[in-house]
Amino acid sequence: MKIICIGRNYAKHAKELGNTVPTEPVFFMKPDSARLPKKAPFFYPNFTKDLHYEVELVIKINKLGKNISKKFAPTYYDEIGLGIDFTARDIQQECKAKGLPWEKAKAFDYSAPMSQEFIPKTEFKNLKEISFSLMKNNEQVQLGNTSDMLFDFDDLIVYLSQFLTLKIGDLIFTGTPAGVGPVLIGDHLEGFIGDRKMIDLKVK
Ligand code: ZN
Repeated sequence: MKIICIGRNYAKHAKELGNTVPTEPVFFMKPDSARLPKKAPFFYPNFTKDLHYEVELVIKINKLGKNISKKFAPTYYDEIGLGIDFTARDIQQECKAKGLPWEKAKAFDYSAPMSQEFIPKTEFKNLKEISFSLMKNNEQVQLGNTSDMLFDFDDLIVYLSQFLTLKIGDLIFTGTPAGVGPVLIGDHLEGFIGDRKMIDLKVK
């Protein structure tokens, strides 16, 4: 199982970090050890002083494929969940400044907590209008809608499968909307798809 994450897929978020809006998807990977086991606590990593949340919709690949065409892309996933792409922003800025890869900032243990529940695609009226949000300590900090994605789920599958064989169980973090920011020990994060609570996490 691999976790593929899309960067800069919401224009306002790309701009808030001072990045240009990309003309093709930007992706990076997290290893399977980035998953947070069920009911395990989430601990603030000791190597960063600027840990950020990024709430993202996650699609789960349901069959093996490569060089997938746009027409068939929708048949490669049938469930949507929610995840947090935790990022050591201070380390990421250092990596970027030196032109180095981001793994140290993005791929560390438990950096990809996800909802236990994945919602069948068929339960959504329109995949191009899914709203999702993140609350920090009872205040909404991020609100996204798939209508604002630069590259939609199908585009991402087509693009990624040119380079990577997609396998059953692979997870794609599809990008974060604007509003990313820091967490501190003791913070309470709650993630929602529409009104449905998907994630409840305390930073320890
Ligand atoms: Zn992200």
